[in-house]
Parts: sequence; structure tokens; C-alpha cells
Amino acid sequence: MSRKPIIAGNWKMNLLQSEAKSLYEGIKSFVSNYNASQLPTVVIAPVFTSLSQVSPIACDCGCKGYKLSIAGQNCHWESSGAYTGEISVEMLADAGCSYVIIGHSERRQYFSESDEMINKKAKAILAGGLIPIICCGESLEQRESGITDSWIASQIRAALDGISSEDVAKSVIAYEPIWAIGTGKSCDAEEANRVIKMIRSVVSEVAGSSAAESIRILYGGSVKPSTIEEQMAKSDIDGALIGGASLSAESFNDIIEKTMKVAV
Ligand code: PGA
Repeated sequence: MSRKPIIAGNWKMNLLQSEAKSLYEGIKSFVSNYNASQLPTVVIAPVFTSLSQVSPIACDCGCKGYKLSIAGQNCHWESSGAYTGEISVEMLADAGCSYVIIGHSERRQYFSESDEMINKKAKAILAGGLIPIICCGESLEQRESGITDSWIASQIRAALDGISSEDVAKSVIAYEPIWAIGTGKSCDAEEANRVIKMIRSVVSEVAGSSAAESIRILYGGSVKPSTIEEQMAKSDIDGALIGGASLSAESFNDIIEKTMKVAV
């Protein structure tokens, strides 16, 4: 079966509202040259305060967001209550999001997010009708000590624990080796494809072969216009989660265009 590619921009903690709006406009004007069927699924994840600037709800071009999807960069698993500083799935949906990035290595590393928390978030996102983009990946130390596959397999098993096959099939996984994030050093495409195949086999074990065939698995870590074609040409890489290169409309649009040539 063919899986529609996803090109997702993770803006991290960058851009003021006016800057987010102008980046959004730069991407929107590019994608408006194409039909939705020609494009990959294009997702952008701004900071919470800029969601209203990029939301399909606020969009005045009449596209209703079918060309650009919006993601939250994080969420809480409870729907409301005394959780200072947190945001719920319902609030993200209300702001126009249809995806939520969870388990990013920066959140695991700097905010002590555990596999258990990520599993609760994934369940809350799916229950709220949104799609989780579940990140996983190994550190350089883990890679060098030869435990990449077992580490990632355990992250995936924990994240998907108790989720129905139907919901797993709709979900998205992003394989992001920590040593490749923000370093300019992208993982070799062949190796990224190997790890992603391994992730797909873990998904098959926990949720069945049909969910494994449907789930979209992205690569992330220093993706740039110069790396995307080789990555997208691989059998199991269904798209990219992009940090640095998503902060300029020129490079992000270039990545979308190159993806269309190779994989849509
Ligand atoms: P990068 O970030 O493209 O800047 O390496 C990717 C990510 O952290 O999602």
C-alpha cells in the first residue's frame, strides 16, 4: 500500500507571532500552487502563542486547512484542571491543531518525560480525535554501545501500550537519532531506513501487520533540502520531521517540492 508522505516542521521555541505569521504565509503561498493530492501532508508546529496566527480556523483563503495542518509541540493527558503551564488536547483542537508532537528527545531530556507519560499523552490525543507524532531515538552513547534497536523498540512498545490497532494505524512515529538533531549531521539514509523498518516490525508485533503497513514513520535529524531526496527514496521512510530547516520558507518549501518529485 502507498502511504502519503508527511513533511512536518517543528518550529520549537522560536519565532514571535509576527514572524510565525510571515513564515506561515511563505509556506501557504507555495502550497497554494498545488492540489492537495499533489502535496505531501504538510504539518507545521509553532509555539502555542502563535497557533492563532497559523490556524486553519483563522485562514482567510478558504482552504479550511486542507493544505496545511497544524500541530501542537506537546500536550497534557488530562482534559483540564490544576496543571499550571500545561495545555490539553481539547485546547489544541480548539486552536486548530490536528496533530501533536510527543516524546521529542528535548522533552525527554530537559523535562524528564517518561515513556509512561508519552503513552498517556498518545492515548489522550487519539481519544480527542487528533494524531500523535510519537518521537523516538537513541543517543550517540547508546548507538556506540550497540543498543540502538533494543532501545528504540522499547520506546515504541511503551508508547503504543494499550492502544488499539486501529488507532496505531492512524498514528505517526518519528525516528530522530539524538546525535543527528540540530548537529548538521544527518543519519545515513540507508541506516535510517533500516531502523525505520525495525520500528515497523515492532509495530507489527504489537498492533498487527495491517497497522504496521499503514502507520507513517518519519525520519528527523538535520534534514535539509540536500538530504531529503535520498531519504524519501527509501522504502520505509514516509516523510520528515524538520527543525532548523523548517524555520525558513525557502528551505522548507524546497523540501516539500523535492518530496513531491520523489514520493507523492
Ligand atoms: P533538526 O531538528 O532538523 O534541527 O535537526 C529536528 C527535530 O528536533 O525535530
